[in-house]
Formats: sequence, structure tokens, C-alpha cells
Amino acid sequence: MFKKILIANRGEIAIRIMRACKELGAKTVAVYSDADKNSMHAQLADEAIHIGDSSPKQSYLNADVLIQAALASQADAIHPGYGFLSENASFAGTVDSAHLTFIGPSADSIRAMGDKAESKIRMKKAGVPTVPGFEGLESESDFKKAAEEIGYPVLVKAAAGGGGKGMRVVNQPEELHEAIESARGEASNAFGDDRLLVEKYIPNAHHIEFQVFGDQHGHLVHLFERECSTQRRYQKIIEETPSPLLTPELRKQMGEAAVNAARAVNYYNAGTIEFIFDPSLSTPALSGDEGFYFLEMNTRLQVEHPITELTTGLDLVQWQIRVAAGERFPYSQEQLTQRGHAIECRVYAEDPANGFFPSTGKLLQYIEPRGPGIRVDSGFRAGDEVSHFYDPLLAKLIVFGESRETAIQKMQAALREFVAHGVTTNIDFMQDVLSHEDFTSGKVSTKWVENKFNWKPSTPTFESLIAASLADLTIVNRPSSIVNEHDPFSPWKNPNGFRN
Ligand code: ADP
Ligand code: ADP
Ligand code: MG
Repeated sequence: MFKKILIANRGEIAIRIMRACKELGAKTVAVYSDADKNSMHAQLADEAIHIGDSSPKQSYLNADVLIQAALASQADAIHPGYGFLSENASFAGTVDSAHLTFIGPSADSIRAMGDKAESKIRMKKAGVPTVPGFEGLESESDFKKAAEEIGYPVLVKAAAGGGGKGMRVVNQPEELHEAIESARGEASNAFGDDRLLVEKYIPNAHHIEFQVFGDQHGHLVHLFERECSTQRRYQKIIEETPSPLLTPELRKQMGEAAVNAARAVNYYNAGTIEFIFDPSLSTPALSGDEGFYFLEMNTRLQVEHPITELTTGLDLVQWQIRVAAGERFPYSQEQLTQRGHAIECRVYAEDPANGFFPSTGKLLQYIEPRGPGIRVDSGFRAGDEVSHFYDPLLAKLIVFGESRETAIQKMQAALREFVAHGVTTNIDFMQDVLSHEDFTSGKVSTKWVENKFNWKPSTPTFESLIAASLADLTIVNRPSSIVNEHDPFSPWKNPNGFRN
């Protein structure tokens, strides 16, 4: 087992990882930027090393400085968390070359799954169903032909994409030119790579992903699914497991496809196979189509891993560390079971009434809910500053119930108890989602939030702001209000985000 682990991340996930390290008897090294000088993650570690100024490029994305910090503190391993360098194959390779252990998959696996176009080709070869589409297109007329063959609507997607960036839905041929131009621009800005692919756009789709887990001795299993269809801007807000849509047969079929996908890239450690699920084809045997398609693999720990932990009883981060140290993962697929129901709500400092625009400021009052079956993974305390430099995730609120119904009730009660004053939050918005009959009946698809709110993604995303080198948030044009007083949804009923 490792004696000392450096955590190359910040906020709630750095703290989550630190806890696992401490439980396993490993010392922890935190790294922090200027903006995180007084942050909880830096204070909770055994040692904390300053790595640069506040911009991610100068700190959490600076591979050289992180490796120097690990060597200087005599750490023997690095856990990358999620985001930042977690899916950067060259970082994983550099960690290895420095005779440190990267707590994650091999650099080769990361590379193989890092590109949406290449990974799709690889998955087709491995017999994993993928969304019908074309890769490697160059000219606009090629795109046009491809789109015609697929049939509109189609989705233009950045091959190097992530975090919902570089994606455009195209409903008719006239929209294709503009979609290609803007997706290319966004992709080249954010990833320095403007290659695009085009695939069938699946309306009313659900996002259902499978957790996979493997050791370095060739043992690989799945840890069941997570339903992640409640999204805004192609990013998840609420996740749950089990998915209300899956039958035991489909679960088995998709779980096997997930394991095959991971095996095709010799995967070990924790990973996630994301599928797009078409509920209109949910009787695949009859339609002759699987009804689920490989989207991408995230070669890292996922934000929503806690719901899998609560329903399987496994500590995924501990197991990540243990298999990275060479231990065997002891459970066979048959020994693994799902029990009860878990839901995660991502509590964001953002304004649902204003295009989910990030909100910054000092947390004047901050009280997390407690109680049986309630878990909060967070990195903030009262008095802390929510800065514009990083993802505005305040906390992950996770609940466990015997059934979906009891889990929803528990989440509603826990959200009522959650106090976060000083910034605008999405807490009331999530209450409205949880009590809506589309949600309670399990019908929420990935575009549901945007359709319900009549919301158009006209706002620059948080990540595009970062990519634009952090122009001052105040100079960005905010969209005009999208308030629709007749909508049963009412996040704006409490425009300050202050809760009673
Ligand atoms: P996941 O697929 O794990 O649920 P998302 O799809 O919501 O995560 O986001 C993609 C990844 O990018 C996540 O790991 C998210 O935390 C990460 N990410 C995006 N922007 C940032 C940022 N500014 N700082 C840290 N992580 C970020
Ligand atoms: P990212 O790397 O940004 O997470 P993904 O390929 O995982 O990109 O897609 C993100 C989200 O976009 C999905 O969760 C889903 O909501 C939507 N999406 C992606 N592909 C399709 C598709 N072919 N049809 C419908 N929705 C899609
Ligand atoms: Mg994804």
C-alpha cells in the first residue's frame, strides 16, 4: 500500500479522496492555487503545497508542477480526481516515467478512449452498439451526404469533446453550415482540435451509464447503471440508480456491453461507459435494434460515483487506490448486487432563472443537511468564497432509500434543510424537478429541463469562459430573463436563491 498520496485536484473530490487515503493509512498531500489558499481541501491534508496562481492552466492543469510537488513531498502515487488532468494520457504517462503510480487506468487506455471518433470505431469492432453516424468527414458536402444518409435530426459533435462542448443539434439541411462552423470554432478553442463527427440525434433519449471496475490481473466487472438524464447544457444535475427504465434483461445486456467495451481497451481501475438509451426501442428483441448505444467512456472516477457506492456497498475510491497498488478486486460479477435506491443532486452556485449562469460570492450562511441515509460530499464551509475560477459545484447531496419513492422523499426533505446564503443556488429548482410528475414517473429525458424551461443555451458556458482566458464575468452579456410566469416550474419564485 502507498505511504503517501498526492491529490491533483481541489474541492469536494479532493476531500473525498483524502478521506479514503486516510482510512487506508496513507498520508495525503494537497495542492492549491492562489484562490484556494484558505480552502478546506488544503487544510484537511497532512501537507499542502502551493502550485500557482488561480487560473487552472497555471495550477491544477500544470503537469510539471504537480509532478515536482509529488517528488518533493516524497509521495508514491497521484490521484487525479475528475476533470483537470484526470483524462490526460500524457499526464498519466509522465507520472509513470517519474516512478510514481497514477491512480487510474493505463495511459494507453486513456488514449484509446479519449477521442470520440476513434473510440467509436474501436467499439464497433468490439461489437458494442454505437449511434449510427460517420467519423473522419472533411468537407461540408461530405457532412451533408452523411446527414442525409443518417436522416435528420443529426448531432454534430467534437471528436475531442467533453463537458458538453462542441455539440450542435441539426434539424434540417439549412442549419448544417452554421452548426459545423460554430462546433468547429468551439472545439478548436476548448480542445485545440476541430475534428467533428456526425451521428443520429436521438430525441427523448435517456443517458444511462454503467460503472465498470477492473484490477491489474485481468478481472473486470460492472457495478450496474446510473440514470443521468436530468441535464442542462448536456451536463448532469440529478443522477439516480437503479434507472427506472431498465428491466433485468436490459440491465444484463447493457452491463455485458459495458464490460466488453472496457475489455477492448484492456481497462483497469474505475471507469464509466456512457450509453444513450432510446426508450422508443425499449423492446429491442422486437425492433431488432439494441435501443442503447455507446456514447463515450470516461476513463476516471465519475462525479456521481457515490450513488453506486450506496447501492453496491463498495467504496470505489478505496478500491481505486487498492487496485492501483496491485491488489486484486475480490468480487465476481455474480457476487455483486444492487440494493435499494440512491439519488444524487448536484448543488450548484448558479441561477436557473438566468440560463443556469454561475453565481459567485461569499457563503454567508451555509448549513448542510444531516440524518439517516444522507451523505454530503462538499468542499465548502460558511465564510468560504465561491470563485469564478472553478466549477461552481457547492456540494453533492446523496440520499439512500429502500425504494425510489422513499429516496425522492428523503431528498426533498434534505434539500429543504440545505441552507446556502450569499450565492444563488439551484436548490429550489431541484425541488421543482423532484416533485414534477415527469420525474416521479421516470420520464425525464436529457432535453427535458431545457424544454420545460423554454431555455436556450445562449449563455456562454462556464467552461467557455475559462477557455476564453477568464474575461471578467461582469463584462459578459447575460441573456435576457427567461422567466415564464405561467410555467408550473418556479425557480424564480425565490430570485435571490434565499430559502425560507
Ligand atoms: P461526469 O461525466 O463525471 O458526470 P460532467 O459530464 O458533468 O462529469 O463533466 C465532465 C467533467 O469535466 C467532470 O469531471 C467535471 O467535473 C469536469 N469539469 C468541467 N469543468 C471543470 C472545471 N472548471 N474544474 C474542474 N472540473 C471540471
Ligand atoms: P461529453 O463528452 O460532453 O460528456 P457525450 O457524448 O457524453 O459528450 O454527450 C453528452 C450528452 O449529450 C449526453 O448525456 C446526451 O444528453 C447528449 N447526447 C450525446 N449524443 C447524443 C445523441 N446521439 N442523441 C441525443 N443526445 C445525445
Ligand atoms: Mg459524457
